[in-house]
Amino acid sequence: MSKASVSRTDVAALVAGVRDRKRYAVSQAITLVESSRPDHRAAARELLLELSESACDAVRVGISGVPGSGKSTFIESLGTQLTAAGHRVGVLAVDPSSTRTGGSVLGDKTRMSRLSADPNAYIRPSPAAGTLGGVARATTQAMLVLEAAGYDVVLVETVGVGQSEVTVAGMVDTFLFLTLARTGDQLQGIKKGILEIADVIAVNKADGDREIEARSAAKELAGALRLVYAGGESWVPPVLTCSGLEGRDVDHVWKRVTDHREHLGTDGLAAKRAEQQLEFTWALVRDELDQRLRHSPGVRRIRADVRDAVLSGELPATDRLLVVSGRVSFEIVQKAVAAGVAGIVAVSAPSSLAVDLAREHGLLLAALVRDERMNVYAGDELLGDA
Ligand code: GDP
Repeated sequence: MSKASVSRTDVAALVAGVRDRKRYAVSQAITLVESSRPDHRAAARELLLELSESACDAVRVGISGVPGSGKSTFIESLGTQLTAAGHRVGVLAVDPSSTRTGGSVLGDKTRMSRLSADPNAYIRPSPAAGTLGGVARATTQAMLVLEAAGYDVVLVETVGVGQSEVTVAGMVDTFLFLTLARTGDQLQGIKKGILEIADVIAVNKADGDREIEARSAAKELAGALRLVYAGGESWVPPVLTCSGLEGRDVDHVWKRVTDHREHLGTDGLAAKRAEQQLEFTWALVRDELDQRLRHSPGVRRIRADVRDAVLSGELPATDRLLVVSGRVSFEIVQKAVAAGVAGIVAVSAPSSLAVDLAREHGLLLAALVRDERMNVYAGDELLGDA
């Protein structure tokens, strides 16, 4: 599929295949939504539009922890228990290392050999390339494909470093953090703010010699969390112990995950997802803008000069962008010019008068036009209109 363009009939066949829960169709559909080629994006939009009508209401859970904390072993164990209980389980991965190196750590299928052989489970390695924003888009859309194929539990695995957790937390209902019984790890977790986004925490590898240690670490962590959540939040993340390897107490962890979702309630969950959708849209706008600006010949031409000017202090780096949630009118551009902002970012096409005025004043104007198409105007030239 990577070379050939995707016709209407192909999309219709994919939709039918996904709805019929055919694995190859699910794989192909996910490959399509991961692609950044403009014609593939168009076909992906068509596909997602069709599929969204039949998507099931899946439980979306993010699972994070540092490498070696036992994520894949835990997911193998949890996934197998869930399929045995009649669920269909999809596993996706967001791996920031793959976005840099092109090699995927989390995508290594051999790690979950039992679950990958399970007919009621589907494991997808992380998309191999792209920005975190691009990977987030691909993952969010892959989730929709899985839900349309009747996977009622979707687990999104990510490595416990940096921005990837925040990204994953922004696409799931409940965020589970796996940690180990080592004080250093716990303090680091608190420092990085991971514990603030975790809804459920499990001290993993609570087996053999480590069991007692794990229990006391869980207690200590629960104490620390009570301080973090002293403000009277209604949900204080519970801290449990479990052993992914032995499959012990994995069901307890899952129970707390579903408790958290119940705690959100139907309205709460709907509100959370709507908020996520909005945030996701903005992430797309930022990502798309960033990409287009980086690749635009116009920007390339002036980039070195601007960089030098900022570094030498000639140009203040405080110039702001005005973000407009609707159409950019002539009046908005007038105000922006008067306020001296550097540019305007909007979610729909500007009026032609607005474009003229922005050009006249050398104002950068970027608008997201229909779905993910983006037009960027700067000065007197149209920089991009893919
Ligand atoms: P990941 O990098 O977070 O996905 O971690 P893995 O699941 O690959 O596990 C890393 C190592 O820890 C492997 O050698 C596992 O066998 C081991 N391991 C994973 N879970 C457990 C557990 O619950 N108990 C013990 N004792 N070892 C575990």
